[in-house]
Order: sequence, then C-alpha cells, then structure tokens
Amino acid sequence: MPSAYDLELDDLAALLSDEPAYRSRQVFDGLHEGLRRPHEMTELPTRLRDQLEEALPSALRVASEVTADDRMTTKWAFTLADGATIETVLMRYPRRTTVCVSSQAGCAMACSFCATGQSGFRRHLTTGEIIEQVVVAARAAAPRRLTNVVFMGMGEPLANYDRLMAAVRRLNGPLGLGARRLTISTVGVVPGIKRLTAEPLAVNLAVSLHSANDRTRDQLAPINKRYPLGVLAEACEAYVEATHRRLSFEWALIDGVNDTSRDVAELAAYARPLAAHVNLIPLNPTPGYLVRGSNSAKVAEFAAGLEDAGITVTVRSTRGREIDAACGQLAARVPVEVTTTAKKGRDAQQR
Ligand code: SAH
Repeated sequence: MPSAYDLELDDLAALLSDEPAYRSRQVFDGLHEGLRRPHEMTELPTRLRDQLEEALPSALRVASEVTADDRMTTKWAFTLADGATIETVLMRYPRRTTVCVSSQAGCAMACSFCATGQSGFRRHLTTGEIIEQVVVAARAAAPRRLTNVVFMGMGEPLANYDRLMAAVRRLNGPLGLGARRLTISTVGVVPGIKRLTAEPLAVNLAVSLHSANDRTRDQLAPINKRYPLGVLAEACEAYVEATHRRLSFEWALIDGVNDTSRDVAELAAYARPLAAHVNLIPLNPTPGYLVRGSNSAKVAEFAAGLEDAGITVTVRSTRGREIDAACGQLAARVPVEVTTTAKKGRDAQQR
C-alpha cells in the first residue's frame, strides 16, 4: 500500500480496529474532505496522529515543481516509492481549475508523436497514487476550488481499468467531484470503452483520434491495428447511447500528416454520426518525433473546415509548453531502457 488513499473506508476501519468506531470515518473524511495528512488532523489524539503519519504514507515525493503561463499552470514531477516518476499538471482558467493526472508510469501504447509513448511503459499506478495527484493539486489550487479532473497525463487510463475506476468513484463520492467534471481520455482501447459503457457512473469520454483514416492512424497510434476505426466508432456510439455524455475527439494537428482538407472531410464524416465534439491542438514538440505541429493559419483553416461541415470544434491552448507540461510532453525522464518504441516512432516518420 504505497498511499493512504489506497485504503477504502473498510480498510481504514480494519486498521483502526483498536480505536473507537467513529475514528475511521473521521480519518477518512480528514483525508478526503479536508485533504489533510494525519499530522494535520488536530482533532485526533497526538499519539494516533504520529502512528497514522507512518501507517498512512504519502506516495508522492515532489521531485520538481515548475510554473508557467503567468503562474496559471503548475507542473509537478513526483517520485514514487519504487523510484518511478510521474507528472501532474494543474491549469487555472478564468472559470475552472483543472488537474491533468497520470494513470501509469510511462505508457505501453507507443504513439509515435507522444513523449510518454516514446519513453515506454514502467508500471500501473495504484488507486491511491492516482487520487493523491488530485489531492496535491487541490491543495495547491486553494483558495480556488478544483473543478475538473482529466485523465490526460501519462499513461493509458483504460489499460489500468480497475484501479482507475476505483479512483474515479472516490473522486466522485468522498472528494465531491461530479461525474460531468471527470474526463477519461483513451487512445481507443475498445474493451475498456465497453466496460465503461456498463458503469453506473457516467464520465466524459475523450478519444485521441488524430486520424480518421486507418492507414494514417495505424502509424500514429499502433493500437489502431488491433481496434481499427470502424470498431472504435461502434464502441463510441454505444457509449454515447448508454450515457448521454458528450463524446469528444482529440486531434493533434501535425504538419502535412493529418491537417489536409482530406483529413477534414474524413474527420467530419467520422464525427458527425456520433455527434462528437472535436478538440484541436497543434502538435507539441517532443524529442523522438521530428515532424512539426501545424502553424496557426493551418489550425484555423482546419477548424473552419470542420465548422462548415457542422462539427463543433475547440482549438485548445497549449498550456505549459515552455515547461514541457503540454499535451504529449510528459516524459519525466522515466528511467526505462525501452528503445523499441522510440525506434517505431522514427520508422513511422520515414514512411
Ligand atoms: N493515453 C490516453 C491519455 C493521454 S492524454 C490518450 O491517448 O488519450 C494525452 C493527450 O495528448 C492525448 O490526446 C494524446 O494523443 C495527446 N498528445 C500526445 N502527444 C502529443 C503531442 N506531441 N502534441 C499534442 N498532443 C499530444
């Protein structure tokens, strides 16, 4: 158990079985509603505080904290108990405050243009390690209230399904974040989307599409070979039908790769039957992928083309670019010796 937040209320009750019955609820609320460490729970006897400080560890050690965008963006790198590193990004906007959390240390999906994908997979995060990122961000956000959580940091959330969903339920219940304020982003792990469709808790679903053409998508996101666009569309349709949540597609615009008028037409045809919203973002630079992001004129033209085709579009701001905190830049120098994914990235560019 690396984190205090790996324990459910029942587990806490078992840990505190020698204490009065109300203690477990008190500590649980202190952790979740108060976002407090045991030593800050002054309502507890000192003896118990000291004991719990040890028994309920914090999983995240801050390795670095950097800010950008006029201090509106904060990125943390955390070292975990086993030495793995993950990153978390807090973004303050005029009307919302969003944290982008990691679900794995590294990632096995090997998307060619993504720094995390280039670094390879290290391990799944535990439920507590996922929740603690939100707790750290919520504390740092004060006096603002944290309003949104997006699972768009390092890793593929749906490849770590059970731990992720346990975290989602805890964020939604004890941490008080409504399901509409939680967004899971997936590269298109179809079995995961199907499981999510059957959950009683319906969160927002974002799919990192990047191409609506199987040949191109195979190169950008290798998972497409296993779950091609047709299969992905069926899973998305079932999700929208069951949950009535808005589906969105993420599209990192890459110069000459997926930003042509043909791409507009393919994306519009793909998104329209699903009533999906499209989030456009110019590709952020990463070390292992030499193709550039589309320039702002191209981005605007692409967005206008989609709008003409009746698709709703948002052009995302590239928060945190100068601190390598923007989409796809989270790498945290994960110390793994995977070279195959980086090589795949290079191969993909040469084709
Ligand atoms: N594995 C999940 C969660 C990661 S979310 C997923 O794929 O959705 C991170 C988002 O940033 C994804 O939409 C991803 O495709 C996108 N991304 C990755 N590399 C990027 C880059 N270099 N520039 C812009 N967006 C990128």
